[in-house]
Amino acid sequence: MSVSDDGEDIVSVEDLSVTYRSVYGPIKALGGINLKVKRGESVSIVGESGSGKSTLGLATVHLLPQNASYTGGRLMLDGKDVATMHGRELMAMRGNTAFMIFQDPLNTLNPVSRIDAQMLEAVRSRAKHDNTSFNQEEALKEAVQKLEDVRMPDPASIIRRYPHQLSGGQIQRVVIAMGLLMRPKLMIADEPTSALDVTVQAQVLKLLRELQREYNMSIIFITHDINVAYGISDRIVVMYAGEVVESGPSDKMTKNAQHPYAQALIKSVPTTTKKQGRLTAISGSPPNMLNPPSGCRFHPRCPYVMNVCTTTSPKETIKDGDAVRCWLYG
Ligand code: ATP
Ligand code: SF4
Repeated sequence: MSVSDDGEDIVSVEDLSVTYRSVYGPIKALGGINLKVKRGESVSIVGESGSGKSTLGLATVHLLPQNASYTGGRLMLDGKDVATMHGRELMAMRGNTAFMIFQDPLNTLNPVSRIDAQMLEAVRSRAKHDNTSFNQEEALKEAVQKLEDVRMPDPASIIRRYPHQLSGGQIQRVVIAMGLLMRPKLMIADEPTSALDVTVQAQVLKLLRELQREYNMSIIFITHDINVAYGISDRIVVMYAGEVVESGPSDKMTKNAQHPYAQALIKSVPTTTKKQGRLTAISGSPPNMLNPPSGCRFHPRCPYVMNVCTTTSPKETIKDGDAVRCWLYG
């Protein structure tokens, strides 16, 4: 959503649609998505399970599964159209412009290769891309330095281990350090802390926020937890049933959300940002994306539903600097 157009956009999404082929029929996981992420900005994507958060993350780095296609609009990453990238250009983009970390970081690492070998490989690949020389001793020093940057205790010893000899939190730090070796402009983190225990979760979130500032990186942080989003991001984007329903500055979104779904989402979780009454569950269930509701997709669950909501999909409206998709606002 183009709330403000100043500053350099690392991600610029206009009217994006992504559709999965399935045996039951097409699933339009994303429709009419508009989003901008500026250089050095941290943006959280929040929503219930199935709202399309991961699909948006994967689409941003062209990592969609084989049964998915870009079916409309445009997604520009660092000025290049992602949907048309292939081959070497795609590999270079994934390493050097953007990297993605997942909920289960172990899948990113090779289980039979030591951490030092995997980190050296990352530096070698960067040198190849930049057309610079590769010096093993210097590369190893840089790898240890990156482990220090991610606040890894005893990096010189950790780097000689295999992935199975590390804890979940240590593995996530190694994956982040490997990403940093590539000097990316954007990091996409898809629920990177949900497999970790609460204390380690807090440490990794703090680390990501610090690294984002130190490296002037942009972050797209995918989470179902609005509190986590508030803690880590400058801006929050709320998704429902494959659409962005509201976006705005984190502070404003958590204190004064406009869209009925965003308001319900905030009321359904305990928050540390303000005094809260009783927590209330969002009534009804998320829609079946094979056959989503007509008009506003949230209408079967919305306490403010009007006739127009059941037939006609609302367009985005910019209100007080926030972008909202709801008939209550025009
Ligand atoms: P979660 O928080 O549970 O990961 P999400 O918000 O990330 O959910 P997505 O995983 O992006 O949502 O899914 C969006 C929609 O696309 C859902 O309806 C989901 O069932 C569907 N979907 C996701 N992956 C596939 C796939 N490989 N094939 C078919 N449909 C898919
Ligand atoms: Fe509710 Fe209508 Fe707004 Fe949808 S458009 S959120 S149904 S008021």
